[in-house]
Amino acid sequence: MKPLEVLVIGAGPAGLSAAVRLLERGGARVRVRVVHLQDVLGGKAASWRDEHGAVVEHGWHMMVGFYENLFALMRRAGIERSQALASMQGESHCYEPADGRIHTMSSAGGRLAVAERFTRYDGLPFVDRANFARVMAEAFAIAGSGEPLRAHDDVCFDTWCVERGLRRHVTRYSIFRFLRLAYFNFPEQISAYHVLQTLAHTSTSDDAELFACRGPYTEMVWNPIGAYLERLGARIEPRVAVTDWVYEGDRIVGVRAGAALPTGPLTAPPVSRSVRACSASWTRWPPRPPACGTAAWTCWPGTASAGRCTHRS
Ligand SMILES: Cc1cc2nc3c(=O)[nH]c(=O)nc-3n(C[C@H](O)[C@H](O)[C@H](O)COP(=O)(O)OP(=O)(O)OC[C@H]3O[C@@H](n4cnc5c(N)ncnc54)[C@H](O)[C@@H]3O)c2cc1C
Repeated sequence: MKPLEVLVIGAGPAGLSAAVRLLERGGARVRVRVVHLQDVLGGKAASWRDEHGAVVEHGWHMMVGFYENLFALMRRAGIERSQALASMQGESHCYEPADGRIHTMSSAGGRLAVAERFTRYDGLPFVDRANFARVMAEAFAIAGSGEPLRAHDDVCFDTWCVERGLRRHVTRYSIFRFLRLAYFNFPEQISAYHVLQTLAHTSTSDDAELFACRGPYTEMVWNPIGAYLERLGARIEPRVAVTDWVYEGDRIVGVRAGAALPTGPLTAPPVSRSVRACSASWTRWPPRPPACGTAAWTCWPGTASAGRCTHRS
């Protein structure tokens, strides 16, 4: 019988995993071609070295202990996890423009410690720390309660917290902004529903340990997975753009595959070693958190998944 021909569009984590699964399960019954836009495997999870040897990340920088499927895929591809990934040893580091220092937050101690750790984070003045920890404990409690979280989709997370007693200026600290920058890579407002969903996932796992790559992700993870994929029989083609999707109902029945515009590996912008360079989000130097009620307070419409942020304050 003629093998089923499958075109996998994309060589990020999703495309690579899908292609591997197809071949592991389908064997000789499928023929898989993987195409992607870039020169390097990994999509937004790619990272590589520039000409000075520095690691340049497209996006993804961390893996979390509960990425069981990815770890299993790495194992099947012959990647020794401890060789590729380094544990953060239960610590995260966060730069606070307010005092120009890097602060360390411990996440050791199991599930409950995830909320409690905020009380030990010394990047906030004590009174704000207690306030922040109380609101975050409530957020974790609601996230983990099993109640439907959709009800919290009509408001952005900042407002949701302020309504529960968070002192408004605390939303300007990195440790607060981290909740959407690190989880969503999005600098503007995010619906409370999405943040609570994320807290629910992170706090119900027994393994929320963070891992960083010991080198560029493409070299340490995606290339070995790509090599495994080729051993299984796939063809991987870089710099191919798929366009002109033809739909029949919700089924794609045709596409055009042509040469992608050359993007090349991205080069890193020049990085200033000065700490001040990181303070762009603060309007004055030395930065001080604005007093409650005076903070510039903006809301980005359309980021709550209901399509409209009903910022209530
Ligand atoms: C700044 C940033 C930081 C992040 N940090 C983390 C992190 O620390 N930890 C974490 O777990 N996640 C992180 N993420 C999220 C993570 O990178 C994504 O969830 C993940 O890359 C999604 O994988 P994907 O395969 O679905 O898509 P992508 O990684 O986006 O891959 C898409 C693939 O499709 C290809 N493609 C797209 N369109 C076409 C087309 N028309 N024709 C041909 N090919 C096409 C692309 O070339 C690419 O290969 C981060 C994301 C960003 C942006």
